[in-house]
This record gives sequence, structure tokens and C-alpha cells, in this order.
Amino acid sequence: MAAETAESNELDGRNGGDLSLHRYNPKSQLKTKVTEVSRAAFPVVDVHTHFFYRLRMNREALEDFVAAMDCNRIALCVSLDGKLGSQFQEQKEFLWKTHRDRFVLYANVDWRCDGATDDPSTWACHRPGFAERTVEQLREAVKQGASGLKLFKRFGLGHRNPDGSLVKIDDPRWDPIWAACGELQIPIIIHTADPAAFFDPVDERNERWEELSRHPDWSFHGEEFPSREELFEARNRMIGKHPKTQFIGAHIANSPEDLALVSEWMERYPNLWLEPASRINELGRQPRAAREFLIRYQDRILFGTDGPWPKKRLKYYWRFFETNDEAFPYSEKEPPPQGLWQIDGVDLPPQVLRKLYYENATKLIPGVRERVEAFAAQHSSD
Ligand SMILES: [Zn+2]
Repeated sequence: MAAETAESNELDGRNGGDLSLHRYNPKSQLKTKVTEVSRAAFPVVDVHTHFFYRLRMNREALEDFVAAMDCNRIALCVSLDGKLGSQFQEQKEFLWKTHRDRFVLYANVDWRCDGATDDPSTWACHRPGFAERTVEQLREAVKQGASGLKLFKRFGLGHRNPDGSLVKIDDPRWDPIWAACGELQIPIIIHTADPAAFFDPVDERNERWEELSRHPDWSFHGEEFPSREELFEARNRMIGKHPKTQFIGAHIANSPEDLALVSEWMERYPNLWLEPASRINELGRQPRAAREFLIRYQDRILFGTDGPWPKKRLKYYWRFFETNDEAFPYSEKEPPPQGLWQIDGVDLPPQVLRKLYYENATKLIPGVRERVEAFAAQHSSD
């Protein structure tokens, strides 16, 4: 039939014809053990969530997610999108009005303020006294309940100087801000660079081709971008220069593909912590190395997801950390969105899981300990 002929011309692979990678969604024939992990083994602190960017101000969605937190034993989430000033107040009001006990909030640096998006020379960060003003705003935010500072990927890969060059992560102009976070005893969570494949040419050798071909703007390949190594080095200099400030390298410091390299950083910087948000895809394809790594640095690894995510994805996190199941998905999406592979669990010992899920967060992040204790007391009979 004509319709069938048209279909088969679209590289659908039928009858052994050519197949477009976008259509490749193979069904695994493996029959392996499936452990149902309906909720985490211990209370969980999710240190990497985006309640502003993912929910905007949708109260119903918030209530739904708090119900999911209850089912999954997530005691609290750290929302990283608190911004500063009146926007911080709005976010706080949104999350704390009904669930003050379940959320803490991080502030963000307001690099642009009232400047024009497309004209970096008008940005607040290039005016004299910017760092000092930001420190004052942060001090105020901490008084209002802020528990940390989040730096986004655009810091290093997007924000620009008046001459058009990219703002450097280790530009000494920002030093007073990082030092102040140490004095205020709030950690900085920093997202630097991105997966290794995002810096490679988007061609047939790229292991994330499928995803990059759908999101060309995620590629940082080319001369207009600094290399991944340069970005890591600048971030590391910043961490080394501020030993009294605690830094959380978001997404396993964005180098889960090379755990030996992250190990070097962990040895060199005692003030560096890690969290695995949206990177169980990477850890789970090297489960033995990942297990050893997570056990070695068990005192400085926190739990994070990059959510709020659908319930199904949360379960994959529990299954990854708590079981030795093999060859299961890391996401509810088909085909898998961050690499066309499956993962194995790392089956962490209970004492390591406890540190990862909540104990380390209670030591590092203001406002967490009392919330975890209240949650544990309330749910002790569960
Ligand atoms: Zn994130």
C-alpha cells in the first residue's frame, strides 16, 4: 500500500532496511533480576532541584510533588532557583507558605540586574562595587533564610564582558562574593561545563549524537567556546583560592565520565563536595568504578536529582544506589535521553547510603538538620 511504502522510505529499518538513529529503540531481550524499590531506604535530602524553573508558581504541581516526596521518603528538597531580593521573597513565599519544613532555598547572583540582555556593557556585574553590593544582598538573603548560593552553567559559558569575551569563572572581581559565602557559612553549588561529548564535534563518533542532534544549542564545540579543561581549571582555581568556602560540584563536578580525574580534584580540594544529579546515566555504565568512588568519598557526596522529576525517574535513583540490578533504564523517557544505554546498580552499603541520602547534607547545608529530624520523628512509624 502507498502509505506503507511512504513509511518504509523514512529509514524505519523495517525488513532490514536502513534505520534512522532517531528511530532506534531496541527492546532488550535480557531477563535479569528486577528489585522493586518503592521508596528510599532512608530519609533523603535532594540537594539539586529547580522548583522555580520546573514548576514556575504552580501550587497544584507543588502539592502533587510534596505527596510524591512523602511516598519516596524525600524529607526535603533544596531549590536552587531562589534568585535575590524581591524574587527570593516570592520563591520563599511559594515554597514556605505551606511547606516550610520540606524546602530550603539557595540564592543566585544577579549578574545582569536591570541591564539589557543583549548588551553586556550594561550589566550590573561590570559596574564598580558589584561584588560588594552582591555580598550585601547575600547577607540579607541569608537573614531571610537562604541556605546557599547556586551558580549556573552560563557562568563560564554564557555571561559576557563588555568587550564580548566570556566572563571568567576565576575573575578576581568575584572573589569577595565567594569569600563572603565562607563567612556566612553557606555552600556554593556550581555547575561548570557539561558532558564531555557536548564539547566534541556532533558527528558519527559522538556518543551523545542522538540528543545533540535534537538540541543543537547544547553543543559547546567550536572556537567560540572555551575548552572543557579550561573551564574546569578556572573553577578549580576558584575553589583552591577559597579554602574556607565549601563548594558542591554539581553533576559529579561535571566529569562523571572520568572518575579518576574527579578523584584528583577531591584529593586536592578538601572543600569540594559532589552530587550526582542527572548523572546516574554515567555512573551506572561503570558500576564497579562508581561504587568504589562513592565509597571512597562517602563523606563528601550528597544526593541530588535535578528534579522535580516524575515518580518513575525517582525510583531509578533508589534502584541505582540501593540494588545490584543490571541493565535497567535511568529515565522514564524512550529512547533514553542522555545516552543510548542502560545502567547497573551500585548496591551501596547502608552506612554509605545514609551519608549520601541525608547525613552529609545535614552537616553542610544550613536549615537541613532540623528538617530531617522533624521528618524522621514524624515518619518514624513508616
Ligand atoms: Zn540543575
